[in-house]
Amino acid sequence: MNILNEPLFQAVFNTPVPRIIFCTNSPDFTIVATNEAFKVSTHITGREITGKSVWEAFDPEEAGGNGGLLLMNALMEAVEHNRRVNIPSFRYDIPSVDMSRLEINWWQIEIIPVSAIGIGRPDYLLLTINNTTGPTLSNQVIEAGLQRERVLNEELAAANEELTTINEELIHSKAELQELNNELEQRVVRRTKDLTESENRFRNLVQQAPVGIAIYSGPQLIIELANDKILEVWGHTAAEVIGKPLLTGRPELNGHTYVQVITQVYTSQQPHSAFEVKGSVIRNGKLQEGYFDVLYQPLNSSCGTANGLIAVINDVTERVEARKSIEKAEEMLRLTVDFAELGTWFINAETREFIPSARLKKIFGYQPDEYMPYEAAINQISDAYQDAVVSAVERAISEGQSYHLEYPVVERHTGKLRWVKATGRLYPSAEGEPAHFSGTLIDITERRQNDQRKNDFISMVSHELKTPLTSLKAYLQVLQARAVPDADSFRISILGKAEVQVNKMHKMINGFLSVAALESGKMQLVKEQFNLDDTVQEMVDDAVISNPRFRFHFLPCEALQVVADQDKLGQVITNLLSNAVKYSPDGGDIIVDCQKVNGTARVSVQDNGIGIKKDDLPNLFERFYRVQSDTMKNFSGFGIGLYLCAEIVERHSGHIWAESEEGKGSTFYFSLPLVED
Ligand code: ADP
Repeated sequence: MNILNEPLFQAVFNTPVPRIIFCTNSPDFTIVATNEAFKVSTHITGREITGKSVWEAFDPEEAGGNGGLLLMNALMEAVEHNRRVNIPSFRYDIPSVDMSRLEINWWQIEIIPVSAIGIGRPDYLLLTINNTTGPTLSNQVIEAGLQRERVLNEELAAANEELTTINEELIHSKAELQELNNELEQRVVRRTKDLTESENRFRNLVQQAPVGIAIYSGPQLIIELANDKILEVWGHTAAEVIGKPLLTGRPELNGHTYVQVITQVYTSQQPHSAFEVKGSVIRNGKLQEGYFDVLYQPLNSSCGTANGLIAVINDVTERVEARKSIEKAEEMLRLTVDFAELGTWFINAETREFIPSARLKKIFGYQPDEYMPYEAAINQISDAYQDAVVSAVERAISEGQSYHLEYPVVERHTGKLRWVKATGRLYPSAEGEPAHFSGTLIDITERRQNDQRKNDFISMVSHELKTPLTSLKAYLQVLQARAVPDADSFRISILGKAEVQVNKMHKMINGFLSVAALESGKMQLVKEQFNLDDTVQEMVDDAVISNPRFRFHFLPCEALQVVADQDKLGQVITNLLSNAVKYSPDGGDIIVDCQKVNGTARVSVQDNGIGIKKDDLPNLFERFYRVQSDTMKNFSGFGIGLYLCAEIVERHSGHIWAESEEGKGSTFYFSLPLVED
């Protein structure tokens, strides 16, 4: 008999506990029977599932939870080991009674293997099923509640801790606030005091300011403050204006544009400034015209609304008048420069920029807008004069002296020769102005042509005079030779004196001829290297013989090698020596010295003669210049000697000058470049 039909088994099976019986045909586990309690608990009738595999009846995929897997493992274990297996509570969802949805369900199952003979592989599996949904869910709810409570407790503890900290901080902050408050109060007191002092200082400052200052307040422009300077410009006293609206304090402004300007500044809140505005001012009790720089600055309240304005007025009358007179002087200078047809030039000592004027450009053959470099001004100078001009310019720069030169320049394009008179001077930097070198240049071609005609005439006359004079000298010499020494002693003496006079005239005529040669550019230099001190010695020796009544002292000197025209320099030295003799009393001392000074050979001739006035010194080297004085009436001459000396020295890139004191004597110097070792 099938064990399932045994009355005892049936009695147990049908107790009100949900039960189900499976075949042990693993893995299908066909459902054999279910009891009534099973139907109540699962809403599934035995008919629906009997004969089906457990997996067909309860698809684990569809039911949700992990019940399927747990059941499979437990069924396998019960069959294989033929032992009772308890499946712990698991979730397996089943449809609701109306089959409309799945309901969450928890189950606890006990599996008991059943066999007919009691040993070996079981024939059936009896599953006793407990629906544990209620307790499980309430356990879960309780657990969740407990969990929430734990979290809340933790949060509460944290919040509590935070509150304690905040509380402590609050206590601390309160103390700090109190301290801050005290400090702030002290500061306010201090600030108020500072502010009062600062306002007083401001008022003092305004009062003492070198410019006129006034402060207006409110739309009526009430004059709050006006310093002495501005009162002076207004021509009012403080009592007349302070605390009064503008037009009450200064009724003379009624209808004046000034009122509109400052009203506009007040309403628009835009500052206004103007420079060199013409106005009147009371000076020394008299109403006079003046110029003012003015600034009107709006003043705002702390919340940004207009509450006044400050007026600053600077009396710039002196500055404007000074500038105007400079402008006038400049204009006059411009007119003079134009009228005199002067070319001007300017060299910035720092940037070396050369700025020639339009007229100067014209002299050199440039168009006014054409670029003319400094080199052009040098390169276009005639070769014979170039070195002399360059060294005069360099000397002017290094020694700060001015130069005055006349030289020919070759006009660009046409190649025409133009004579120019040039001056130049270094102006050291002063008051923000950089150092500069500037000068003038004037076209003297016409004058030179006139001079040339005069020179030609002098030259012609000199030549004409020289011929009969030479004959005269020869006749005198013949007569002298024929005279019998004892019988004709008187004649011999007269003939001697006549020869001296003829020689004098000869010398003068030679002087004129030299000037003429020089001016017509016919003076040629024959340069060679020699010892200048030897030439000086030679000339001194000659002078000693010709002037026995004078005491010559040639101071010892070292060798001075120069490259120059020896004859011409001999003439220069002789000229200086003969002037020293000429302008000194008999028996005077004449000191001659040669020295090396800053890379130049310097020769000087000193006498203790009549001397020269300071005013005459700069002109001594000009052509035909002679000092005008009663004393000079006793000395003959034409003012040619020093001119020739200067020309010769300058053609050697040298320099000549004199120092003298009237009545005490003079010293004439010249210097030449030395040959470099
Ligand atoms: P000159 O002597 O023929 O007049 P110079 O050209 O030699 O011409 O000299 C120019 C002028 O310089 C002289 O007229 C004289 O007034 C002045 N002079 C030159 N040398 C001396 C000197 N040693 N002492 C004083 N005056 C001098």
